[in-house]
Amino acid sequence: MGTPVWPADSGIKAIVLDFDKTITVKHTTGAIFQTAMLDDKNIEINFADLDFFRRVAPVICENGKLCIATFADDAEEALLSDEQIIAWNPENRSMNPKVVGKNLHLEELRKVLGLKKNQMVLFDDSNKNIVLAKKKGYAAIDVPEPVRAEDSDAVTGGFNEDAWKTFLVEQAQTKKASGGCTLL
Ligand SMILES: [Mg+2]
Repeated sequence: MGTPVWPADSGIKAIVLDFDKTITVKHTTGAIFQTAMLDDKNIEINFADLDFFRRVAPVICENGKLCIATFADDAEEALLSDEQIIAWNPENRSMNPKVVGKNLHLEELRKVLGLKKNQMVLFDDSNKNIVLAKKKGYAAIDVPEPVRAEDSDAVTGGFNEDAWKTFLVEQAQTKKASGGCTLL
């Protein structure tokens, strides 16, 4: 597997990843406070596709910003949040996550990074979050929930090569629809 391709002339400047069940296979609630969960082996085995992540991260960082938008409790928020990691739960701010989705997380990132909505793409395993983000004008890719095979460590779904391909195809279609010319 080679180096993932960046969508040429897409104008995308930030890849925003959901964390649980997009980057990871299993939900990680509370894991950050259990030191036994934090050795490299446990972290690596929980990646949906560690090999792809290692290949795509440098490509993203060369072309834009790699960000995370995750629902997290207050203690996790205090530990994790920074310019490119937005970690808080709408419920803790008296908002319904089913109504706001990740849109306020995206808005925070957009302001900090000084970007337009169509320069950002959200990858998330929650279809609800994807639908809400698209309604607001963000690009968004619905990532199939990761599933580990019973008889091997193979994982399907999650943030992997297939999700990236879906992103490339959607960007090409967006470009076509907006009248951009494509070199054949
Ligand atoms: Mg998720």
